[in-house]
Amino acid sequence: MTEPSGGSAGGALAEATPPAGAGPTEADWAAGVAAVQGLPPDGRVLLICHVNPDGDALGSMLGFGLGLRRLGVRRIQATFPGPPEVPVPFLGLPGLDLLVPATEAYPDPDLVICFDAAGESRLGELADRLETAGAALVLDHHASNTRFGRINLVDPHAAATSVVAEGLLTRLGVPLDAGIAECLYVALSTDTGSFRFEATTPAVHQLAARLLATGIRPGDISRRIFDTRPFGAVRLFGEVLGRARLEPAAAAGHGLVWTYATQDDLARHDQRPYVLEALIDSVRCTAEADVSCVVKQTTTGDWAVSMRSKGAVDVSRVAVALGGGGHRFAAGFTGSGTVDEVVDRIRAELDGALTGPGGR
Ligand code: AMP
Ligand code: MN
Ligand code: MN
Repeated sequence: MTEPSGGSAGGALAEATPPAGAGPTEADWAAGVAAVQGLPPDGRVLLICHVNPDGDALGSMLGFGLGLRRLGVRRIQATFPGPPEVPVPFLGLPGLDLLVPATEAYPDPDLVICFDAAGESRLGELADRLETAGAALVLDHHASNTRFGRINLVDPHAAATSVVAEGLLTRLGVPLDAGIAECLYVALSTDTGSFRFEATTPAVHQLAARLLATGIRPGDISRRIFDTRPFGAVRLFGEVLGRARLEPAAAAGHGLVWTYATQDDLARHDQRPYVLEALIDSVRCTAEADVSCVVKQTTTGDWAVSMRSKGAVDVSRVAVALGGGGHRFAAGFTGSGTVDEVVDRIRAELDGALTGPGGR
């Protein structure tokens, strides 16, 4: 997910990453190309995306994996940390046959490539591959990316990691086909909120045009990804939205709206956790609040927090302060304790973010 709104195009992200804001240099791209072209015959490539993968994580990883296959690379695995459960909306993605459970991932691949992960912690139990692999390449677009690869193709101005993935595929001479294009389109459309967010530059639409020209069907894809959910999820959303709280005085008067969902809520409506990913979009439209949060209980009893801002508050600063990361207008972290304790921490950081050094 990237910035939902506000700010000048790209400028907001650049601010958070002064020296590296420019994105990959030609030398970085050349190193990325060399890492792929220098694979030994029958070399093993491990592709990893971040935990709880979203459309950009899965789409950029699988699209790139299909591109490697077109180059003739035969031993390719794609994976992500945690349970090997692909959210239902992504079950139609091309390239799913590349996926293996994290427990079966090559322990010492010739090349590891990480997608859409701002830091090693987002790779969970797979982070050790950065050391054990022959070469380690990071493809990402988070301003907060820690450059944890040996080669880092990180472009904070890119609307999605798929933009970086397409850049590398092009430099490798891989032509777009419908399978690659569908993966990259899912990634691009999810991270730009269906081409609504500020990062939706002319270049994003030009890339979308190239992807659509392969014959993929945007109506079908969007219906599957954005406009389909089980009836139980519709009822669950009703309940969870019904308990949303608006705090107009929070965030130094810019306003906070938040709600939460527990494992028990999911169980009562017989729903899988992925359905909660779309909740933030229904909460963040609240006119009276700049900041919105959804606090989601994980299977371990911790809370995965999604935060969004309309522009007055840099929620990535709040998320980073609380151990997470993200973008200025879309960020997250994982917290423990009760819901009230987690929201208390958010309130305190929101006040700090607006009044502390560098606050606005
Ligand atoms: P989400 O609310 O899950 O859609 O995430 C919004 C943004 O915050 C994405 O760019 C994520 O990569 C980032 N993010 C979410 N949770 C975390 C976390 N625990 N640590 C670092 N970044 C996160
Ligand atoms: Mn992501
Ligand atoms: Mn992304």
